[in-house]
Amino acid sequence: QPVLSIEHVTLQIGGARILNDVSLAIPKGEMLGVIGPNGAGKTTLFNVISGVLFATAGVVRLNGRTITREPIHARARAGLGRTFQTSSLFAGLTATENVRLAAQTKAGGATALGKFPRARDAATRLAEQRLAEVGLGAHRRSIAGGLSHGDKRKLEIAMLMAMDPEVILLDEPMAGVGSGDVPGLMEVIRQLHHGGRTVLMVEHHMEVVLGLVDRVAVMHHGELLACDTPDAVMGNPTVQSAYLGGAA
Ligand code: ADP
Ligand code: MG
Ligand code: MG
Repeated sequence: QPVLSIEHVTLQIGGARILNDVSLAIPKGEMLGVIGPNGAGKTTLFNVISGVLFATAGVVRLNGRTITREPIHARARAGLGRTFQTSSLFAGLTATENVRLAAQTKAGGATALGKFPRARDAATRLAEQRLAEVGLGAHRRSIAGGLSHGDKRKLEIAMLMAMDPEVILLDEPMAGVGSGDVPGLMEVIRQLHHGGRTVLMVEHHMEVVLGLVDRVAVMHHGELLACDTPDAVMGNPTVQSAYLGGAA
């Protein structure tokens, strides 16, 4: 049974079909790349999976359970984690405080800083451990808003690790990251995937996609053109013609 299954999902907004009959079954532990030109519907697919938008037809299942109509927080509690194309950090808090808040969210507790559990030291130690795992140990007391773009992305991944989701959606994790930070961030994504977590990643940098994923899903005009191994996808004539014109 796939951990995540998308069955004939369509999203119609006004007169526009933004997703058109998309079906995709993702086995547990897979790392799936999602590629396609700008406006293809990649972020919208993540929105429909995570509950930001509701599919107008079709079904989304997590571990066999239908979540199509469930709100974001219910899907998060069921084990779905995601990052956004733009950052979602508390810029005025330290890196450690951000990770602690993420861990609190997972626990379903209060998100106000004053309401941390009494085991504050233990929570802090755990947060610092997650930061060390993504290579941000030296930045644990840094204010999140002051971190470099690459380090912000690493912090977001440390926050995801603290929430320990089973299925993770990463929307353009390399966007705005300097090329010097790319290898380190790839390693952090590998760690995130480690231990059986399933990862779906929208990414334009093809060397990142090819270096990380098991399969690649190709979207174009709201449709899924192909989903296969990187080699098979790159050799697929339909995919090649969709990319003619160079939009990526
Ligand atoms: P991608 O992430 O592949 O670049 P998006 O999923 O962001 O593409 O967008 C796909 C298309 O859907 C675009 O044409 C975009 O303008 C449109 N779109 C996305 N979200 C909405 C929305 N909430 N309302 C109307 N149109 C939307
Ligand atoms: Mg893998
Ligand atoms: Mg997008």
